[in-house]
Order: sequence, then C-alpha cells, then structure tokens
Amino acid sequence: MTSPNAGGQWVVRCADCGGTFSTQTEHSVCPACGGLLDVQRTTPWPSAAELVALFDSRSRIAARKDTSGQSGVWRYRELLFDVSGPIVSYPEGNTPLVRHSRTSSFSGVEDLVLKHEGMNPTGSFKDRGMTAGVTQARALGARGVACASTGNTSASLAAYAAIAGLPAYVFVPADGIALGKLTQTLAYGARTILVRGDFDRCLALVRDVARDEGVYLLNSVNPFRIEGQKAIAIELMHQLGWRAPDWISLPAGNLGNTSAIGKALREMLAAGLIERLPRILAVQAEHAAPFAESYAAHFSTRRVVRAETVATAIRIGNPASFDRAVRVIRETDGAVVSVSDSEILAAKAVIDAAGIGCEPASAASVAGIRHAVAHGLVRPTDTVVAILTGHVLKDPGVLTWYHRELEPRPLLANRPIVADDDAASLTRLMSGEWPHA
Ligand SMILES: [Zn+2]
Repeated sequence: MTSPNAGGQWVVRCADCGGTFSTQTEHSVCPACGGLLDVQRTTPWPSAAELVALFDSRSRIAARKDTSGQSGVWRYRELLFDVSGPIVSYPEGNTPLVRHSRTSSFSGVEDLVLKHEGMNPTGSFKDRGMTAGVTQARALGARGVACASTGNTSASLAAYAAIAGLPAYVFVPADGIALGKLTQTLAYGARTILVRGDFDRCLALVRDVARDEGVYLLNSVNPFRIEGQKAIAIELMHQLGWRAPDWISLPAGNLGNTSAIGKALREMLAAGLIERLPRILAVQAEHAAPFAESYAAHFSTRRVVRAETVATAIRIGNPASFDRAVRVIRETDGAVVSVSDSEILAAKAVIDAAGIGCEPASAASVAGIRHAVAHGLVRPTDTVVAILTGHVLKDPGVLTWYHRELEPRPLLANRPIVADDDAASLTRLMSGEWPHA
C-alpha cells in the first residue's frame, strides 16, 4: 500500500499572524502570538472522483482487519493531515443517521435527520478529535497528554491515552461535571484533578502546567483535534450521498465543533465533493450564550458571560474557538440562536421517549430547530440534520432529577410508581391511565 497521504502536504498556520509551522509542531496555539492554529493542505486536493472511490472502497473493506478502514475518521484521511506514525484508533465514528416521527413533529421540520455522535466508543463526538490528537501526541513523542474539560473530552482523552499507553492528566471543575463522564474518566485510568474553579479557569491552568511538564495539550483548540472532528461532517455527507442538506444544527459551547464542521464543509466544497454549503445553526443555552449575543450584535464585539445551564457540555462563558466559529457562521450564511433550559429539557424528553436518547446539550440542537422554525428561519420543508453529541447515559443525574424529583412535574416526566406487593394492586395500576398523577 502507498503512503496514506500520497501527494498531500500540510502545514500548521496561525490564523492571527500567519506564522507557519510544520505538522510536527508541539504547540497547540501560536507560540509567537497566542493565536489559534489551523492545519492547512498546501497541495491541491485529489479529484472528487478519486476521493469518493477511496472512501467507498475503505467502507466496503471495513469488516476486514484494517483499523483505518473501520474508523469513521481515518477512512477520510486524505481530508485530514499527514500522519507520520501509527494511528491510535478504537475505531470510532460510523455513527448512525436516525429519524422518528415524534422528533420530527416536535422540531417542526417534516423529516428531521439526527446524526447520533453519542454512538462513538466513549459515548460522545469527542472520540473523533481524540483519535487524531492522541495519534499526533504519540508521533511527537509526548510524555503524556492533558486537557481541561466539562466531561466528555476527559472521558475520551482517558480512553485514547489508555489505548496508546500514555499517561493522561485531566483537569475538571470540582462542581458541574456529569456523573457518567467523571466515572468514565476514572475508569479509563486518567490522573484526574478536580479543580475548585470553573471550566474557563481549568483551561487557563492546564495551558501553563502542560507547558511546564512537557505533556501534549489536547484542548478543543488543538488543531489536530479539529482535523479529526471534521470527520463528523465528512461522514455525514458520505452517508447523504454527497448532497448537502439545507441546514446542520449543533449545540454550541466552546465552538470547537462549529469550527471543525465548518472547516470540513469548506474543504469538501473546495475538493468538489459537495456542490454547496449547508447553513450552520449553532445553538446555545440562554444563560451560556456569549456567541449568540455576539451574533445578535453582528459579531461587532466578543462577549464573555458567566455561564449557567443544565446542559453542562455547553456551559462555557468564553468560547476558545470563537474566531474560527465566526468565520463559519459568516461563510455558511448560518445563524446562532439560544434556547432556555426548559426548552432543552423538553426536547431531550421527546428524543429520549422516541427511544433515541441523548445527553442534555445534544438536545439543544433539536430545541434550536424548533425555535428557528417558529421564527421563520428554518422552513418545515427544509432538509435538516441535527447533531446529537452525546449518549443518554452521560448524565444520569439530570434524568433522575427530571423524571423523579422536579416540581411541578414536567408534562413529559415519567415517574416510576411504588406498588404494594400483591397482584391486585399491580393489576389496578396497569389498567389505569398512564402516567399517574
Ligand atoms: Zn500567531
């Protein structure tokens, strides 16, 4: 077999000062000015026909013992970056497109397609970026890997570091990490540090500590994580036969995902794989909405807020990938909206009760479509894909609270019923109306 990226050349370039580095750089942000780094291909893309033939052939051999073909990230490596060593893969990706009449009718879109990234190995979309990031860390000979995270990133980093045999250091806010995510991180063996501070503080601290300790920083701004995350959009277009939908809706917190999906779309358009750009709908929680507030002011200022929402994965007040995401909204003629926690929980209850299930932040993408349809931004006949970012079991605490404890009882709360241990009581309960008051 030829080299995986035969003919392709990549560099890492600073979006702010234009400084250019080799893809072997150990820096996650520009060492000269602190700006965000992007991986860029410097040679023309292979032809669309050539790419499609490669991607299709790897999909067909996916069942064979070829990890890079089985992976829904590395199958698309010509669109990612040149890897100099062996890849670290679970494998990941290959997430399903699902639809249900209840989620469609709730959203207001006739045929809403959900791409369920919660079906990745550790239960969130983060695995796509992490397979790329940890592969890069090992190629660079890093002594370890580190991140600050609201949860999903730590679980993913912990798993991929374990696969690679590298120590992982995880910094999480002592309050505000969902149970499923913290326990996963511990289970996969990461050295876990609960910081008495919020996410934004964790992010600042890990930057300093990683530099001092010589470990490779895998925060969401890491350019190679962005490259892996692009595969959400590439795999989606492959599944849709390379026909772009009218809209892609996604939860928006730190904006790494908005940036990655936007970069993938831009590059697929340049490579001739798609004929037009879908519009991006970035959805924030109303009390964690600095990006939505900036959008409302035509991005004239960069807002920072004190973030609060039940959707912990998007509880971020100062998004790290802000500038990249602004570009994506502008060039896709996209929009940024915010929805309340009760709208998020209502959408989640519908998605869960349809048998699909997702974590709270994921439901923001569907709540955002409902909001956008109600405001005439999205039409009921538009083709719309909503990205569900995490698995329903990521946040069991919210489920217990919503279904068993929250007062007044939400319409969709599914309260369990305690019964006496005799058949007559059980029969009476089963033949009665459900749910019981
Ligand atoms: Zn720079």
